Amino acid sequence: MVEHNELIFESSRPGRVGASLPPSDVEKVNLSDKLPKHLIRSVPAELPEVSELQLVRHYTALSNKNHGIDNGFYPLGSCTMKYNPKINEDVARYDGFSRIHPYQPAETAQGALKLLYELQEDLAEITGMDAVTLQPSAGAQGEWTGLMMVKAYLEAKGETRKKVLVPDSAHGTNPASAAVAGFDTVTIPSNQDGLVDLEELKKHVDSNTAALMLTNPNTLGLFEKEIVEIARVVHEAGGLLYYDGANANAILGKTTPGKMGFDIVHLNLHKTFTTPHGGGGPGAGPVGVKKELIPYLPVPRIEKDNENYSISFNHPQSIGRVKGYYGNFGILVRAYTYIRTMGPEGLREVSESAVLHANYLRKKLEPYFEAPYKQVCKHEFVLSGSRQKKLGVRTLDIAKRLLDFGYHPPTIYFPLNVEECMMIEPTETESKETLDAFSDVMIQIAKEVEENPEIVLSAPHTTIINRLDEVKAARQPVLRYTREEAPQKEAVKL
Ligand SMILES: *Cc1c(COP(=O)(O)O)cnc(C)c1O
Repeated sequence: MVEHNELIFESSRPGRVGASLPPSDVEKVNLSDKLPKHLIRSVPAELPEVSELQLVRHYTALSNKNHGIDNGFYPLGSCTMKYNPKINEDVARYDGFSRIHPYQPAETAQGALKLLYELQEDLAEITGMDAVTLQPSAGAQGEWTGLMMVKAYLEAKGETRKKVLVPDSAHGTNPASAAVAGFDTVTIPSNQDGLVDLEELKKHVDSNTAALMLTNPNTLGLFEKEIVEIARVVHEAGGLLYYDGANANAILGKTTPGKMGFDIVHLNLHKTFTTPHGGGGPGAGPVGVKKELIPYLPVPRIEKDNENYSISFNHPQSIGRVKGYYGNFGILVRAYTYIRTMGPEGLREVSESAVLHANYLRKKLEPYFEAPYKQVCKHEFVLSGSRQKKLGVRTLDIAKRLLDFGYHPPTIYFPLNVEECMMIEPTETESKETLDAFSDVMIQIAKEVEENPEIVLSAPHTTIINRLDEVKAARQPVLRYTREEAPQKEAVKL
C-alpha cells in the first residue's frame, strides 16, 4: 500500500515549505534586465511544495523500492556485490579527506597524497605490477586507459599493430574498449572446458597482434590453466597481455596477474575492494603496469621523495590525463580503508571464502540445473536453464521468480557462450544460512517449473511493477516527471 505522501507532486500544496532559509543579505537582482528574453521562464517551474517530513518519506519510499546489498542477497556474477563495510564510510567522511580541495597546494594535502601513494603501492603488490594509476573511474575506463598505453608503447617502438584478441567469454567492455582505443578486435573461441583454445589462439597471434585481453579466472569462473603458455605465445609474437581484473576476488593473496605473465591490469575497486557500486558509479578502475609501460601512465602521478609527496606532470611520454583531478578520491579512501582493515592475511581469506562459497552453492544446485562446466570453480560459476527451457520456462522467468523471494537474480544470458546462462557469484560476505536459503529457493523454483510452471511464468507477484517492457524501458526511458507521462495506476499496482 503506497501512501499518498509518496507521490510528491500530487501531495504538493501551495505555500507548504520544507526548508527555512535565513533572510537574504544581498541585493535582489532583476534577472529580466540581465538575461536574454528567450532564456527567461514565462511560467514558474512546477516544483512540488511539501514539508520536510513529506520529502523524507518520498525519498525513503523510493529507496525502499530499490534492491541493494544492504537489504538482501545479490548474487550478480561478474559484479561482486559484496558488503561495503561501514568503517569505509566513516573514514571517507573525516574532515581531512572530505573537506580538502583538489587545487590546494600539495604541501597542505600531504596526508591525502600519502594515502593515494600507499594505495598505489598496495594495488601494485596485489596485482604484481610495478606501478599503478588511480585515475580511471570505472573498469571500462581502466581498460581504455590500458589500451591507450599499449598504443603509446607500440608507437614508441615504431610499430602500428591493429589487432586485440578477446576470448568469446570476455566481458562486453573488453571489445568495446579496444574499439574505442582504435584497435580491431578478434574473438577467440573457448574450448569444450570453457577455457581459451590454445590452438585457436596460436592461429590468430601474429605480428599485427597488439594485445590479448583476458580475465583469469574467466567469466565462467574457471582458471586458465595454460596461462603461462598463453602469455609465452603472445609475448613471443611481440604482443602484450592485458588482465581484466574487475573481479579479483578469487586471486587476492593467492597469485597475481604479474606472476601469470600479464603486462597491464585494471581492478574494479567497486567490486573487489568494497566501495559502493550502485547507480553506475562513482567507481574506480585503477590500472597497474609492468616496468616497460611506466612512462606512458596518465599524468598527474602521485610521487614520493623522502617523506614528501607530490603531484607530478613531468612525464613527457604519458598518454595524458584520463580523469579530472586525481580519480574518485572518496572511493579511493574507502578502498584503502578496506585493504588496511583486512591486511594481507585477511585478503587471502577473502579469496578462500569466496571460492568456497561459490563451490558450496554450485554443488547444491547442480542436481537441479544443467551445469555446463562441472569442475571446481573459483569465485563464481555458471548454470544453464536449458533443462527448464524444454518445459517452456526460460532463465528470464526464473530470474523474475527470484524477485518474489527478495533476492536479486544472478547475471543472466552472460557469458554469451552458455545457453540460458545464469552466472552466480555469492561472495565471501554472505553467511552459510543465506547460501542455504537461496539454494532452497532455487530448488523450489526448479520444482515449480515441473509442477506449476504458470507461477514462474507470471512472476514476479510481490514487486511494485510486474514485468517491464525492457526494450522500451532501455530505448525510451521516461526520465522527467510530468503529470501526463506519470505511470498509470494499473501499471504501478499501487
Ligand atoms: C564489471 C566488469 C567490467 C567493467 O567494469 P565497469 O566498472 O562496469 O566499467 C569489465 N570486466 C569485467 C570482467 C567486469 O566484471
